[in-house]
Amino acid sequence: MHIFKLVEPLQQFLEEQRKAGDRIGFVPTMGALHEGHLSLIRQSRAENDLTVCSIFVNPTQFNEVSDLEKYPRTPERDVEKLAGAGTEVLFMPEVEEVYPPGGDLKVDVDLGRLDEVMEGAFRPGHFEGVVMVVRRLLEIVGPDRLYMGQKDYQQFTIIRHMIRSLDLPVELLVCPILREPDGLAMSSRNERLSADDRRRAAAIYRALRQAREQMEDHTPAQIRRQAIQVIEQAGLQSEYFEIVDGETLQPVDHFGQAEKVVACTAAWAGQVRLIDNMILKEPKK
Ligand code: AMP
Repeated sequence: MHIFKLVEPLQQFLEEQRKAGDRIGFVPTMGALHEGHLSLIRQSRAENDLTVCSIFVNPTQFNEVSDLEKYPRTPERDVEKLAGAGTEVLFMPEVEEVYPPGGDLKVDVDLGRLDEVMEGAFRPGHFEGVVMVVRRLLEIVGPDRLYMGQKDYQQFTIIRHMIRSLDLPVELLVCPILREPDGLAMSSRNERLSADDRRRAAAIYRALRQAREQMEDHTPAQIRRQAIQVIEQAGLQSEYFEIVDGETLQPVDHFGQAEKVVACTAAWAGQVRLIDNMILKEPKK
């Protein structure tokens, strides 16, 4: 595996590969890697000649300094896992390399109402930071395909919107959520859960499954209330549980209102904030 910390040698290397006809897949991450991340790497490896993974804990997307400081960092283990998964290139830059001093990297794209709801409402400025870093990383790596997880539903929806708005020459592929045996979505943040909170956290998946089961004979409002009950009764603190149009991310009042409907939720397990989602209704093929 080739490891780069600087933009220039990375770009030189990728230019050579591109000249040789290689198609490049790109998996941006914030490290503390788990099987969910590796599933993105594997999908990229299957569909491209060369896979680039980045590990960068992006300061501009953290709205709380303490959250940024407490974000898990396990670089040695990450390198081992990526090499084990056959990743060809790892980009691990310092902050100044991604955000050169004096540069203005704010991306001029109107997110409309996509970032007013859910994560956008509870984490002000978060998606502005996400858009900024993904735009910059795409500029640096110049991949043919970008791989993101459905785990961060609102995130990939906003990045898809950015790619379309700026007409960027990259294809976005969204990979399914990998879960622990009890259903908890894999997340770097799970490492920070106490044993008790880790047990309680499985209620998030139970609430999402209940939502899917209740779809036939309940309204979104009823499902939402009961899902929050499941989460709270397990000892977690629900932040939101929304049933939304899978394209616009606006809440729906009934399931006929949108072709694709998704339940998205955020809850606190002790000091750790967890997010998850489940597609309740897919567009008819
Ligand atoms: P992160 O390191 O949390 O920024 O995540 C990097 C990428 O991995 C994002 O596109 C996430 O959506 C994706 N990802 C995170 N957790 C999972 C998971 N459990 N299953 C699939 N993809 C995931």
